[in-house]
Amino acid sequence: MPSLNRLIFIAAGLGVFIGWLLGAMPEDAGLRTGVLYSSTLVGSVFIGLLKMVLIPLVFTSIVVGVASLQAHHQVHRVWITTVLYFMMTTALAMLLALVVANVFKPGVGLSLDMFADAMDSFEARQMTMPEFFQYFFSGLFKNPFEAFANGDILSVLMFAIFVGIALVAGGERYRSVLQLMQEFLDLLLRIIGWIMWLAPLGILALLIRLVAEQDVDLLVTMLGFIVLVFATTLFHGVVTLPGILYAVTRKSPLWFWRGSREAIITAFATSSSSAALPISLRCAQDNLGVQRRIAGFVLPMGATMNMDGTALYEAAAALFVANLIGVELSLAQQLVVFLTAMIASSGAPGIPSAGMVTMVMVLQAVGLPAEAIAILLPVDRLLDTVRTAVNVEGDIIGSLVVQKLAGDEHQQGA
Ligand code: ASP
Repeated sequence: MPSLNRLIFIAAGLGVFIGWLLGAMPEDAGLRTGVLYSSTLVGSVFIGLLKMVLIPLVFTSIVVGVASLQAHHQVHRVWITTVLYFMMTTALAMLLALVVANVFKPGVGLSLDMFADAMDSFEARQMTMPEFFQYFFSGLFKNPFEAFANGDILSVLMFAIFVGIALVAGGERYRSVLQLMQEFLDLLLRIIGWIMWLAPLGILALLIRLVAEQDVDLLVTMLGFIVLVFATTLFHGVVTLPGILYAVTRKSPLWFWRGSREAIITAFATSSSSAALPISLRCAQDNLGVQRRIAGFVLPMGATMNMDGTALYEAAAALFVANLIGVELSLAQQLVVFLTAMIASSGAPGIPSAGMVTMVMVLQAVGLPAEAIAILLPVDRLLDTVRTAVNVEGDIIGSLVVQKLAGDEHQQGA
């Protein structure tokens, strides 16, 4: 029997192929309807299972991560290195997007009339910069039970950081609570191991639906932009990020790919960094040798805050919209795009199409019509695949880089 890792890879290829075959069938063909129905069922069970473990996992892994980092006096180093890595890689991704979009000018030959209908019937959910900050900060601290129940990762994360720090501050007194958390985390990882066996089937189902339901005419119209976004995102994922990994850790991209592909393919198929998180944690710890306390801290943070693919996309899409409308963005305006996309991407939760919502802010910051995202929405599900895969890749590489730069020397690779 082939390894799980290989099965996932085969399932992804097969999913795209079957989806493509189904897409070519008439919409009312019985076979097509039947396969799409079962794909929806299997896909939602797989995502449901990942979501089932997500919130308890984020909570326990952050508590255990923060508590043991704190106990090893590593917490400041790890924290600072993580934030610097997140900011630097996101900035590199956006810089690449802006340079490429300035050179190739996507959207220049297209006429806005083609999209008039979509824009007319679309009501943008407006989000200005002050509103965004209000939304972001008011979301940080909440009743933990409400946050748990609503799957509100950011506030779960904040609560977990407090609990982790308090556990260490209390020392011996809370020893048994910490031990309980560690054991609970272990138990969750075991459950994730079981869920993984469904991953090939889940990924197959999700990709069949995704590919079969694409609107081909629209894809052809937007082909230039889609190819540009794909190529730039892939460049970041295949050249820039592995380059940073190699420069810091001397680990080869192939070694990384072999250890992390389960997580990256899951991110591709689910379009959700959060849904892929349980698998990213497993890959980082079991296959790539990242210490639990580092992975348990960096990965959940990354899944909510570090999104290179999203930032890159938001910057490229802002320029695309400007070109469509026939506006040339000045250098100063592009700097505004750069800064807002940085904030918008880290504020986007790791769920499908989240980047689209926060993108309104980027468009508005430079005076572009928010309604223009109506043009991008129909192709978003497709673009979300690669950008989420790169988001997750960035997080896992982050855990390796942080371990190397800020980890405990004596336990490197343990
Ligand atoms: N789907 C992305 C993620 O989960 C977020 C986005 O760009 O929409 O990482």
